[in-house]
Amino acid sequence: RAMLARIESVEPRVGSFITRTPESALAEAAAADRRIASGDAHVLTGIPLALKDIFLTEGIRTTCGSRMLHNFIPPYSATAWERLRDCGSVLLGKLNQDEFAMGSSNESSAFGVTRNPWDTARIPGGSSGGSASAIAARQATATLGTDTGGSIRQPSSHCGCVGLKPTYGRVSRYGVIAFASSLDQVGPITRDVTDCAIMLGAVAGYDSKDSTSVNTPVPDYTAALTGDIKGLRIGLPKEYYIDGLDRDVQAAMDRAIETYRRLGAEFVEISLPHTDYAVATYYLIATAEASSNLARYDGVRFGHRSEQAEGLIDMMTKSRSEGFGAEVKRRIMLGTYALSSGYYDAYYVKAQKVRTLIMGDFTRAFEDVDVILTPVAPTPAFKIGEMVDDPLQMYLSDIFTIPVNLAGTCAMSVPAGFSASGLPIGLQLIGKPFGEETILRAGH
Ligand code: GLN
Repeated sequence: RAMLARIESVEPRVGSFITRTPESALAEAAAADRRIASGDAHVLTGIPLALKDIFLTEGIRTTCGSRMLHNFIPPYSATAWERLRDCGSVLLGKLNQDEFAMGSSNESSAFGVTRNPWDTARIPGGSSGGSASAIAARQATATLGTDTGGSIRQPSSHCGCVGLKPTYGRVSRYGVIAFASSLDQVGPITRDVTDCAIMLGAVAGYDSKDSTSVNTPVPDYTAALTGDIKGLRIGLPKEYYIDGLDRDVQAAMDRAIETYRRLGAEFVEISLPHTDYAVATYYLIATAEASSNLARYDGVRFGHRSEQAEGLIDMMTKSRSEGFGAEVKRRIMLGTYALSSGYYDAYYVKAQKVRTLIMGDFTRAFEDVDVILTPVAPTPAFKIGEMVDDPLQMYLSDIFTIPVNLAGTCAMSVPAGFSASGLPIGLQLIGKPFGEETILRAGH
């Protein structure tokens, strides 16, 4: 009830939610009380959570931030949410996001703006903007987001939260609306690292319904939070600490390095030489996969269907024209182009080769270090409207997060202080594949 009251009071100023579910939340809370009384509770029993609207929730509208799915009520639930529900968690509602998770500011949502609780003139980040703003505004105890090219880490950084993108395959993608299937991963956004470890432990693990989920045991992530990082070898990639990095971001990184040194970590300068190519590579692969994944929205079986159409082709064309927003259309066009015959080798195949080189950069770096420390975003949260007319500039701001998705490894964003004007700044800890315990320990 306290959480519902909190949502009621701050939601008009923040706008984190697309759909709220207060009645079912109270019923789930009552069931959780009974479970706790019976002595068979999980640590998450009764804990009020909210989900990015990309997670299918049986019987509850799931829009993915798109007009295309404004009326879509899924007949089944995402595995990640099912696992939390089995723990007895309470669902407060579905959170705003960029349309089909395409964006870095939450401004491409068909359901209005979400504001950064630290400064409501600014974006919360994206695409899991509502997931981060809800945590920062204390509208939920923990949330889930997805990260294809930074969408958990960047909004966490802009809103002062902890956000973790697990290794590809660590968490099931079943029932998560697909954007770019070889990059998408599910992960928690929370107030602190302990909550993050608890949430990751609850959702991680093999799922026979996702053929890319990996069958390796899930460790007790909270046990990794020992408080001891003596001797931890931290890599600083020279390509990430460039001249022209925002002064406040650089200062936050300097403070973090100093703190880690005091706690007994050792620093090593490393090189990730193909960093310069990461954004271009990502925007070819992600758009190519998106153009294929989004072909299913044809107005036939579910989602938006145009009412003006005459005949099948016209119905599909009009449904897609009306259902998708500008950013989604831009990505479908870019991706279709990159996959078309005559251009496939020059763009898509080339991008896959560069992706392999980027993976190799990380493999080599991790021969020498345990974690890599970088900024999350080149600047603190920008103003709403500042970048909407400049998609390329927005794409370039993903430079520090995207390489991790291409390499398939894990990384987290942890609060690292504030800018001179009081905006949160996050640091990024990148780990080895399935090295979530190490980055959680360092983040803690
Ligand atoms: N900003 C990136 C993009 O627009 C990240 C998206 C994501 O991780 N879902 O593609």
